[in-house]
Amino acid sequence: MRYSIFSLIGQTLKGHRGWQPTWRDAAPKPEYDVLIIGGGGHGLATAHYLASRFGINNVAVIEKGYIGSGNVGRNTTIIRSNYLLPGNTPFYELSMKLWQGLEQDVNYNAMVSQRGVLNLFHSDPQRDAYARRGNAMRLAGVDAELLDRERVRAMVPFLDYETSRFPIQGGLLQRRGGTARHDAVAWGYARAADSRGVDIVQNCEVTGVTIMNGRVSGVATTRGPIRAKKVALVVAGNSSRVAAMAGMRLPIESHVLQAFVSEGLKPLIDCVVTFGAGHLYISQSDKGGLVFGGDIDGYNSYAQRGNLPVIEDVMEAAMGLWPGLGRVRLLRHWGGIMDMSMDGSPIIDHTPVQGLYLNAGWCYGGFKATPASGFCFAHLIAKDEPHPVAAAYRLDRFATGRVIDEKGAGAQPNLH
Ligand SMILES: Cc1cc2nc3c(=O)[nH]c(=O)nc-3n(C[C@H](O)[C@H](O)[C@H](O)COP(=O)(O)OP(=O)(O)OC[C@H]3O[C@@H](n4cnc5c(N)ncnc54)[C@H](O)[C@@H]3O)c2cc1C
Repeated sequence: MRYSIFSLIGQTLKGHRGWQPTWRDAAPKPEYDVLIIGGGGHGLATAHYLASRFGINNVAVIEKGYIGSGNVGRNTTIIRSNYLLPGNTPFYELSMKLWQGLEQDVNYNAMVSQRGVLNLFHSDPQRDAYARRGNAMRLAGVDAELLDRERVRAMVPFLDYETSRFPIQGGLLQRRGGTARHDAVAWGYARAADSRGVDIVQNCEVTGVTIMNGRVSGVATTRGPIRAKKVALVVAGNSSRVAAMAGMRLPIESHVLQAFVSEGLKPLIDCVVTFGAGHLYISQSDKGGLVFGGDIDGYNSYAQRGNLPVIEDVMEAAMGLWPGLGRVRLLRHWGGIMDMSMDGSPIIDHTPVQGLYLNAGWCYGGFKATPASGFCFAHLIAKDEPHPVAAAYRLDRFATGRVIDEKGAGAQPNLH
């Protein structure tokens, strides 16, 4: 069923009794052309683009939980393409362009809101670094504006501009950045892929990868074995665990990242703001809650939950930026498992096992990448060659030294 004003009026007249489930609850078939492990945003986007752009429809997405239970439904919803390095900029800009047409493409309201992403700076050297980033973005055809303190104040008047420990001097603004409703992105891709015949199999965990003579031939699951000509591994925080089933050791560590939401407030900020003197970003959801994010937990973990020390850390940064927040109540917080690569950039590549493809290493920035990641991964699987904008995301770059160290902070995930 196509969603439109006409289907809405039609259903209203029928008492809303004719709506179909958003996607079928498929049972696994014995064999597929492509089997995608992981029903997060990236796995579902891959399935959608395989079916819609490359004509490959005999596809299954195998998800151990339910759609939206992973990071795609846990993130702080920020989308942007304000990257510095040539290996990253065209990829994230392709993603931004796909975000701009996503709702028409998948016929689903993902609440894509280009409300602007503003990175604050607090010192002269930091302004220089942001000017360099902005210039690199503009040279690559991406929008960027360097704002002085008064222009930032006009946009976000409630912050502490002078008296805080790190007075705000200005900001780098990408107006086309913003937010999208995270779980609606998963549902939209799931529905679009399902409508083209993709099987979305929930509550089915992959427990083994079957390899014969160096070539993948299928997977073992909690609902029985499934054969496949090609297998795509796209499980975000669980990448190392699933890759180990195929005998691979990845340059990835798993860490928890937490998100925080306040009680609902009247509209206060209409863009995304990041603090330049600590790890903190804030936006306001359409329901009125302030949505915060901060740094990853410093230790490796697969525990998908939050903890108290990071609340204190993130709220300290929030108070440093916006002291008025001290009177706001925090309502809830949660954690997701991040697949932290050793240079902060992702991997979209073949593996040493024939027919087995890898999409991983998204760190805490993979939501914004969802459309381009799915598109480029589908391109790789369908054509067996990388899409030009994702050609740098090779698995062997950690052995050859051609890393894409976007943050320039060294090779430890806890410094990204
Ligand atoms: C708190 C938080 C805030 C974030 N904020 C942002 C942000 O503002 N902007 C941004 O760009 N990014 C953000 N991210 C990062 C982003 O959410 C992730 O990088 C991205 O969602 C990862 O890709 P995914 O959606 O495919 O992952 P997931 O949704 O985690 O999908 C992976 C799926 O694989 C499944 N799986 C795992 N093992 C198996 C198995 N053995 N068999 C079958 N299925 C399996 C999991 O159940 C899961 O559903 C944030 C993440 C968190 C946790």
